[in-house]
Amino acid sequence: MPELPEMEAWRRQLNEPVRAFPIATAGPAHVATLKTFDPPLSALEGRRLAGARRRAKRLLFPTDDGELVLLVHLMTAGRLRYLRAGEKGPKAPAFRLEFEGGAQLVLTEAGSKKRAGVWLLTPEAAEQELAHLGPEALGLGPDALAAICAQESRRLHSLLRDQRVIAGIGRAWANEILHHARLSPFALSRDLVPDEVSRLADAIDIELGRGLELRERGANDARTYRVHDKLDEPCYVCGSPIARVDYEEHTVYYCPDCQTGGRVLKDRRMSRLLR
Ligand SMILES: [Zn+2]
Repeated sequence: MPELPEMEAWRRQLNEPVRAFPIATAGPAHVATLKTFDPPLSALEGRRLAGARRRAKRLLFPTDDGELVLLVHLMTAGRLRYLRAGEKGPKAPAFRLEFEGGAQLVLTEAGSKKRAGVWLLTPEAAEQELAHLGPEALGLGPDALAAICAQESRRLHSLLRDQRVIAGIGRAWANEILHHARLSPFALSRDLVPDEVSRLADAIDIELGRGLELRERGANDARTYRVHDKLDEPCYVCGSPIARVDYEEHTVYYCPDCQTGGRVLKDRRMSRLLR
């Protein structure tokens, strides 16, 4: 699933082009993709978008008159593309906006499951839709993170991925961040000493910043990630093979030497015993 760096790179790419022309035609949208019916999509026609915004892993396209917000959540397999006038697009996108002059914004989704969503909302309804999200991960800082860690005792990998607590991090960047911070994915948040909290806060900014920079240059997953999905490849810090353990239906990648004091986490039951 695209996370904060991926979504922010797309937002920056889309911000200028989406506001260049008013919307000529809104839709069609796949019945499973469009999550709202009032206001109707046609309410967008004739209006101009103010640009692209982002909150956590969602993209928001407010109209420049301040009356409507188009909200897009790509989930795992959704992709949003801006096509210039005349550029060939997919035959049956899950959602399409056509601008005056012929450029298009199209949402496609690989696979048969339609999980990506599009909402057309008033600004008040959009705010409500996003109200459950925690603070943005990028720029969170050590003080806010210390308060979050003290609130409840949670495994760090699970805490970082919880959008209600910190918004924008998923399993891939949780792996990268915890490795950078030299912390076990299964350490408990309340057990962190202040130095570890500030290391984690730094790692969040450094890793998400690194990801954003690479994604803006078009880097693929293999080049962007250094720990995530790198089983048995040498750790970029110490050279030990990266290990993997299944946890809460997620696969966690980590370096035993850098993060768990050399201990290899065998399975979920054992991983509960280790921090
Ligand atoms: Zn290492």
